[in-house]
Amino acid sequence: MFQDTAPSTTERQRVMKTITERKNIARPQTFGDAELLPKISEYFGELTFGLREMREKLPREAYAAVLRTLEKGEKMSKETGDQVAQVVKEWAVAKGCTHFCHWFQPMTGLTAEKHDAFISIQYANHSELRVIERFSGSQLIQGEPDASSFPSGGMRSTFEARGYTAWDPTSPIFITEEEGSSTLCIPTVFFGYHGQALDNKTPLLRSVQSLSREACEFLKLLGDVDVKSVTATLGCEQEYFLIDKSFAALRPDLMMSGRTLLGAAPTRGQQLEDHYFGSIPSRVKAFMVDSEQELYKLGIPVKTRHNEVAPSQYELAPIFENSNIAVDHNTMTMDVLKKVANKHGLMCLLHEKPFAGLNGSGKHCNWAISNDKGENLLEPGTTPHQNLRFLAVCSIVLKAVHVHADALRAAIASPGNDHRLGGNEAPPAIISVFLGSLLSEIFDSIEKGKASKATEAAIIDLGVGQIPRISKDYTDRNRTSPFAFTGNKFEFRAVGSSANTAVPMSILNAAVADVFAQATVRLKKLLGEKGSRDEAVMELTRQLATESRFIRFEGNNYSAEWREEALKRKLPVLDRTADALKVLADKKATEFLISTKVLSEDEIHARYHIGVERYVKTLLIELYTMTDMVNSYVLPALERQIAHTGAAGAVMSAEAKRSFTTARMAPLEKTYEEILGRLGDLKTALDRVDQLHDEEKKMSVIADDLVPLARRLREQCDLAEGMVAEQYWALPKYREMLFANSIA
Ligand code: ADP
Ligand code: MG
Repeated sequence: MFQDTAPSTTERQRVMKTITERKNIARPQTFGDAELLPKISEYFGELTFGLREMREKLPREAYAAVLRTLEKGEKMSKETGDQVAQVVKEWAVAKGCTHFCHWFQPMTGLTAEKHDAFISIQYANHSELRVIERFSGSQLIQGEPDASSFPSGGMRSTFEARGYTAWDPTSPIFITEEEGSSTLCIPTVFFGYHGQALDNKTPLLRSVQSLSREACEFLKLLGDVDVKSVTATLGCEQEYFLIDKSFAALRPDLMMSGRTLLGAAPTRGQQLEDHYFGSIPSRVKAFMVDSEQELYKLGIPVKTRHNEVAPSQYELAPIFENSNIAVDHNTMTMDVLKKVANKHGLMCLLHEKPFAGLNGSGKHCNWAISNDKGENLLEPGTTPHQNLRFLAVCSIVLKAVHVHADALRAAIASPGNDHRLGGNEAPPAIISVFLGSLLSEIFDSIEKGKASKATEAAIIDLGVGQIPRISKDYTDRNRTSPFAFTGNKFEFRAVGSSANTAVPMSILNAAVADVFAQATVRLKKLLGEKGSRDEAVMELTRQLATESRFIRFEGNNYSAEWREEALKRKLPVLDRTADALKVLADKKATEFLISTKVLSEDEIHARYHIGVERYVKTLLIELYTMTDMVNSYVLPALERQIAHTGAAGAVMSAEAKRSFTTARMAPLEKTYEEILGRLGDLKTALDRVDQLHDEEKKMSVIADDLVPLARRLREQCDLAEGMVAEQYWALPKYREMLFANSIA
């Protein structure tokens, strides 16, 4: 006889009760007894040690030496290193640091740190041991973490498993504060014995160098003879979800993979469009204020906060910075968000697709290039010269994205991002550029040769007056484009929310540097042929715009027509990571990374290898977690339900039983059977993958066979969720996870 042993209140319901009864636990810190928050400017950057601190604390000569290292790349002497280390240590110890670490960004896509105490042992008269705080220049400048557990993509055989970290003085040193222990973090690059880049930062720094070199050459021909350097600027809009930690703890999938692998769609999702820019729930607001304070202390200039499209989805964006620093700041931001969320009893989900059927999270990378005078080369100017330069640089970017669309697609490939790019969501996996109607019109006219005489008058001939400052207010928006011009910058919108932005940024910089180099050669030739420099530049712009016209797309990027059209235009359509990664194995597609010296052949190969390996590992974790959950949650819940329903049926009259069987019993049994069958198929397929030894083969089998099998299994499980009584279903539901905060 069936005994219903289900508890009257489930763990889920208990969590819900606690959430709704909770006083807002974490009021933002108010710094002592003050009622008001302090002014941001009063504490901004207090946990960083950058150039200003060096200027204030170092002897004049030492500071000048640091500047020479920064500006001219001069090697830092041991003496200077020791002097810097000394002042850094004093500063850090005064702020309560006991340890320091070399902080780096290995190819796992995360950050890594290994802490060392600031201590050194001294012996006074043989036996009396004394411990002193010590930190030397060489400890500051170079480290040698045991690197054998970081992915090297086969670049480092075990006998030379060493990896080295080297201080990157262009990024400020900072302190991470945690309950009772503060650590001094030194931003470093990470490389192998032969100088091979083992991290994501080194290629980024190289790409900026290459971009600067090639852009300067080009700009000099254009008439900017005094240009000394060019940098890439970056502002990352970070999207994330926040859910109650107690719910996350009840979901093996969130714990193991950062996304839900099962879960029926709630009756209300984002269809009411009421969450976007809606009022921020107070609990979330407290979290935001608190994390912003942490970020300000770290010198990260966060500027905006708002609700995003999906329930419980939010966004934050800083003021843009030099790309090197912006990349560090974005990785630090992700870390701060996670830690502060934890303190507030929340879990911050940075995964690209934590919840099926709802918008995923991206990280729009706003990118531009500026010269050493701080002029943005993508800002339409007020003088004819600035406008000509703007158009020329714009056409170079267009060409770069066109020629290297496949590499850019590879740069944003990750299992998480597959759910956005390949799924039915913005933006699609096809790289194209949106310019907006005004700029499109200008380029169309240039293409037609209407503006071949690049005088002020010729620009007026375009019918748009002297090109106006195409400020934000002029540019229309297209939320479906993966790469959109937004007034004075391009917004690479296809980057995933959990990505280390150093990767897409180094590929983008390299692509643009590559085309700058070609443009220089072509412009030199045109200068010999044309009457005036302006005419030559305009002709080059016309050619580049014409050659890259197929990358421009102004319409709806989600539409089926665009897909067909893109195929006709021979643009790469690479839906899945499994397809996109192959670009890295294609010599022709990656040649530009070698010619721009951003990555060597070995380093590219290593990145391909690591990409494949990470895909396989991530997917296997997800798939095994899913089969576990079906076994230990879904099937037992259904079995209880079947027993319960069966027991009810046993006491019914024959009359009542007829509709009972068709409406209640049969669907339960059918679903149960389906799940068993589909689970069996998935398990068999998993065993097959287990037999394979080749990682590339595993990747294809997983992408081609296992992902669809998992999707089929999930469909039935989500159906089951709706058939099972509340008290039998142990996994927190979408409804609870996504809407709890708005009522708390
Ligand atoms: P949106 O309308 O897309 O929300 P915002 O004005 O909020 O745009 O800006 C998005 C991001 O673009 C911000 O981080 C901003 O600092 C950054 N941004 C603005 N100008 C530049 C630039 N020249 N280079 C790089 N990023 C920039
Ligand atoms: Mg944006």
